[in-house]
Amino acid sequence: MNLEPCPNFIGGEWIESQTARTPVFNPSIGEVISECPVGSATDANAAVEAAHAAFPSWMETPPVERARILGKFKMLTEENFEDIVRSNTREHGKTLVESRGDVKRGMEVIEFALGVPSLMMGEVLENIARGIDCEAIRQPLGVCVGITPFNFPAMVPLWMYPIAIACGNTFVLKPSEKVPLTAIKIAKLLEKAGLPKGVLNIVHGGREVVDVLLTHPKVKAVSFVGSTPIARYIYEVGTKHGKRVQSNGGAKNYVIIMPDADVENSTRGVIEAAFGCAGERCMAGSTAVVVGAAEKLVLPTLVEATKRIKVGPTDRETQPDMGAVISRQHRDRVQELISIGEQQGAKVLADGRGVKVSEAPNGFYVGATILDHVQSGTTVAKEEIFGPVLNVMHMEDLGAAIELANKSMYGNGASIFTRSGKAAREFKHSAKAGMIGINIGVPASMAWFPFNGWDESFFGDLHMQGREGVQFFTQQKVTTSRWFSYGEGDIWHTEKK
Ligand code: NAD
Repeated sequence: MNLEPCPNFIGGEWIESQTARTPVFNPSIGEVISECPVGSATDANAAVEAAHAAFPSWMETPPVERARILGKFKMLTEENFEDIVRSNTREHGKTLVESRGDVKRGMEVIEFALGVPSLMMGEVLENIARGIDCEAIRQPLGVCVGITPFNFPAMVPLWMYPIAIACGNTFVLKPSEKVPLTAIKIAKLLEKAGLPKGVLNIVHGGREVVDVLLTHPKVKAVSFVGSTPIARYIYEVGTKHGKRVQSNGGAKNYVIIMPDADVENSTRGVIEAAFGCAGERCMAGSTAVVVGAAEKLVLPTLVEATKRIKVGPTDRETQPDMGAVISRQHRDRVQELISIGEQQGAKVLADGRGVKVSEAPNGFYVGATILDHVQSGTTVAKEEIFGPVLNVMHMEDLGAAIELANKSMYGNGASIFTRSGKAAREFKHSAKAGMIGINIGVPASMAWFPFNGWDESFFGDLHMQGREGVQFFTQQKVTTSRWFSYGEGDIWHTEKK
């Protein structure tokens, strides 16, 4: 099979890195489709220098002109939508429907960024003191960096650079080495839309490249999305080196099912939250808390529906319900965690270990799994499994369910399924998470709102997307001005005495 090229994009040129390579797989069939460079300090430095050189002229480009280029970019993503979707599915393994969601969510951020001439507008107060005016404007920061995870190859890079460059910054993206190809495909469309050379750069690699980007004196801001230990590391090292940092980490999201929940809708919502994208989502609803009689009303339907989920290859026309996980190692780890859960007392109500997929025997598959009666403090209760595994826990009332969910060290999302407005309000008020779902299993914020993790799910002050995104990628300049006279000459009218 011909391997797809995986070049860096530096200063407007597509350049092959001279470093060693790591395999990029199609997880559906377990075959290598490309090789991603491990990268080097030389590659990373070249990308930062290119972005730095492009900054002065890009900053001077009027916001309206910058937005027009993004408008063309948006149009090209629409024209090439299915091509991007298939690339996304091929390197990630998620279904085509899920990839369409991934790409659409990213495109919405471009749509949001098109509003930058309004979004960047400042504030003025005339007469802040007698004869003195004060104004605050927003200016770009300079070179910004984005480091992204494997699970949303299209969407997560697009959370970052459309807003950054719309605001007048230049950007260096380091995509996940597991899924570098869709980021390249999308960047080619931005190049085609007329983006000047060096405004967006892509450098591939792992830790060595990240460390150069994180500490480079010419880098002003770092956006990161990935697991919590790395997110914390990025925040600590980046801020120590004087960068602005927004760093999204992992999660463990609770979905509370009340006894009055609509059985059909809540089952569908929980299934989608737990098993969508094979559970590889930071907004996955990975723990269902069944309250009181919900155990008898909802759980049996949930188990039945889970057992019906068909797993299979996603890189062809006939689509399964759920695709593969990202790698062989990850598949083995998820299966190991299911066994650890069982050993620590959980009951396996649906078992996805060792699932057989005859159409693609070498793909990285785990079937949809339910672990019931998971106890607090056990490995599966604490660890982000990041696979198609739903933990079920049981509570007597809403208060106890909220208390349980609030013990989590993470704070991305939390959802409730109920018909009671009072219960929903209490939950919304008390849940310790930044994105709340009411009869919605995956309450991921759309582009116009911040992607709003709390606690160990986010390190920083300003979140990605929405107005906070614009604030993150700009710095304010406040000018206070006073004028004493009209100046010399006779072109002015007579000053009042
Ligand atoms: P990861 O942390 O392994 O990798 C993320 C990025 O960091 C990649 O680009 C990788 O190359 C780089 N990296 C990995 N190890 C590094 C190291 N030691 N030093 C410097 N850089 C390093 O994450 P992943 O497995 O690609 O993605 C899954 C994780 O991302 C999950 O924990 C998931 O919850 C999280 N995630 C969070 C959000 C969110 O918004 N909170 C969104 C998507 C994914």
